Amino acid sequence: MNEKLVHSNSVVLRIFQSHISFYHLHMSPIYRGRFAPSPTGPLHFGSLVAAVGSYLDAKHHHGVWLVRMEDLDTPRCVAGAADDILRTLDVFGLKSDEPVMFQSQHTAAYEAALQQLKESGAAYPCCCTRKEIADSGLHGIEGFVYPGTCRSGMAHQRSTPAWRVTTDQHAIEFDDALQGLLSQKLETEIGDFVVKRADGLFAYQLAVVVDDATQGITHVVRGADLLNSTPRQIHLQRLLGLNTPAYMHLPVAVNEAGEKLSKQTLAAPVDVLQPVATLVRVLDFLKQEPPKSLADGDVGTVLEWAVAHWDAQKLLGVKTLHT
Ligand SMILES: [Zn+2]
Repeated sequence: MNEKLVHSNSVVLRIFQSHISFYHLHMSPIYRGRFAPSPTGPLHFGSLVAAVGSYLDAKHHHGVWLVRMEDLDTPRCVAGAADDILRTLDVFGLKSDEPVMFQSQHTAAYEAALQQLKESGAAYPCCCTRKEIADSGLHGIEGFVYPGTCRSGMAHQRSTPAWRVTTDQHAIEFDDALQGLLSQKLETEIGDFVVKRADGLFAYQLAVVVDDATQGITHVVRGADLLNSTPRQIHLQRLLGLNTPAYMHLPVAVNEAGEKLSKQTLAAPVDVLQPVATLVRVLDFLKQEPPKSLADGDVGTVLEWAVAHWDAQKLLGVKTLHT
């Protein structure tokens, strides 16, 4: 190849590259958000808040909004719950812009990610029991901290191992859109954490990171109960060479006892027979100050108003709210 040809090739390449960046700037959505419920029961007020909050933030930014079913933890999943959740979302006008993704159909992607972690030496097998980990006596922010017993080889062989990823002393920092700057030292506050359980199920942390990357999610809007999980997810994104999305953690709905509304705290399913009133209640909860006249409209007009007037800053620094 002569020099002139090489030169003209590189010019073509530059034109091609600038064309690609033009395409990304103008054609692909800048914002891709999602709502990812677990089909363990009907949608309750707390999960509807996360659905509406993520939808409004996406639509206010002219983005794409997706629904993903986190049905990986099959023992906890309830038959028919996924359909029920999707029907409920539909009643509230919340429709996924792309086909709903089911985690249970993507285990090959999680296996590939685990393989990548194994090959880079970031994941190792572990056979320690809960009791052995508790015996170490190291307390962190989510119970006992794994003391790293099996880092350089399993202490003892026992049936099928779990797989853990290594953590280190570096603080993982991220700037949450509502909760501000957060910093966590995984090694001492969490410990090497499980990405595939001994029973063969992939851990939530790995699945969510792989799914967000697969779906090209740019903005994660979810409940503040997942705030402490975020550094683990950022750690995995870095180990797997994936982008880190922007995070916004909404206040969690709590009952009079200060407990998060959930199936465990017997939260009632949302009222699908009065969707407008329920939606206005969600907007009230999210401090959006909906005008009283909205109560006379339909779901479409309520959502339209809420998208146009969405102001997340009204929730700045709020982690929990009473319903
Ligand atoms: Zn172990």
